Amino acid sequence: MYICPVCNGLYDYVKNCSLCGGKMELLDRVENYYDDYSPYLSYQLTDLNDGDSANICSHYCICPFCGNKEVVKIRNIEE
Ligand SMILES: [Zn+2]
Ligand SMILES: [Zn+2]
Repeated sequence: MYICPVCNGLYDYVKNCSLCGGKMELLDRVENYYDDYSPYLSYQLTDLNDGDSANICSHYCICPFCGNKEVVKIRNIEE
């Protein structure tokens, strides 16, 4: 079974803001924000190397310094 290490608190994913380089805060998984989905959110999928979406958990990141929002794809790990 594959689990998301971020959702399960196995490690803290650190992402640096692509605009200002600051350390971004990882928010909840994208599904939990579905009602607030913004079409203006820029998707940055640079963490995704292949297209196996079944084993990917999407998380929102927000930069506390400049307000930039990004989506990161966390690769699930085998439990
Ligand atoms: Zn997750
Ligand atoms: Zn920033």
